[in-house]
Amino acid sequence: MAKDLKEGIITERAGQKVEVYLPDEKKSYRAIPLGKVRKKTKLYAGDRVRGRIVDPQTFAVEEVLERKNLLVRPPVANVDRVVIVQTIEHPPFQHFLLDNLLVVYDHLGLDTVIVFNKIDLLSEEGKKKLQYWENIYKSAGYDVLKVSAHTGEGIDRLKDYLKGQVCILAGPSGVGKSSILSALTGLKLRTQEVSEKTERGRHTTTGVKLSPFGEGSFVGDTPGFSRVEALQFMDKEEIRLHFPEFLRYKCKFSNCMHINEEGCGVKEALKRGEISCERYKSYLKMLHLHVDWLKDYCKEEEG
Ligand code: GDP
Ligand code: ZN
Repeated sequence: MAKDLKEGIITERAGQKVEVYLPDEKKSYRAIPLGKVRKKTKLYAGDRVRGRIVDPQTFAVEEVLERKNLLVRPPVANVDRVVIVQTIEHPPFQHFLLDNLLVVYDHLGLDTVIVFNKIDLLSEEGKKKLQYWENIYKSAGYDVLKVSAHTGEGIDRLKDYLKGQVCILAGPSGVGKSSILSALTGLKLRTQEVSEKTERGRHTTTGVKLSPFGEGSFVGDTPGFSRVEALQFMDKEEIRLHFPEFLRYKCKFSNCMHINEEGCGVKEALKRGEISCERYKSYLKMLHLHVDWLKDYCKEEEG
């Protein structure tokens, strides 16, 4: 790399306007991609670039580094983590929806973290529920954080957890995504109403903006999915690969769907209580299946 080339991250692209943030200068510039860059690729928020400061407002982009990923909704490159925001109460927790988000983001190759917000509002029963679900998701292998965007409880831990990462917020409306963005950055989320049917692959028309916060972290001001269905993204044979707890067990058949096959390690683990009934039921529901033997091991209603 030439000595005078500086590194930056693209924070916004809205039509012709491209903005780049230089961590060394702690300052944003208007980015002008040189011809050789323009010929190769369009720039996206999240792109890591190298170039030169040509005047106090302008940065000439000479090179775009290889992308680790490119998310479609919102359009952001090099996303390190999707922060999936949920609540236990107000609105009530829908674990099937969370399970679908976890499966779909894993399918897209993105790391996630589950953040339960509004812990300041929890009733005594709500606190028990939170503990119950936290155990289930932690045992399955997910990271779980608890915050209140209102009181600020847990926000520093979240900031610390997201250190140096580019992230976006996802989850149903009303859970506090916008409030968490404000707690992290002091800014507001751009709301985007999308109907359930058209969620898949929808492009945002307005440019997404990444905002710096904490220590070298960035968060997008446009949310990801609020609800998804796993089967809209993948075949039914793939879904089981995105339940991390299933992958710990061996089955007689390598293509075992963990339903009625003999020698199924996942079914045995469920019977021993090592795999959560709630998670297994979500798996069946994603496949639109029902099995009779389940009632012998799992209660009808839990949680
Ligand atoms: P979004 O739709 O996911 O972006 O949710 P918002 O950030 O708009 O929040 C929805 C509502 O919940 C708003 O009235 C917020 O003020 C409120 N809210 C968000 N976070 C919290 C929280 O941690 N505690 C409480 N009590 N209310 C919250
Ligand atoms: Zn199996």
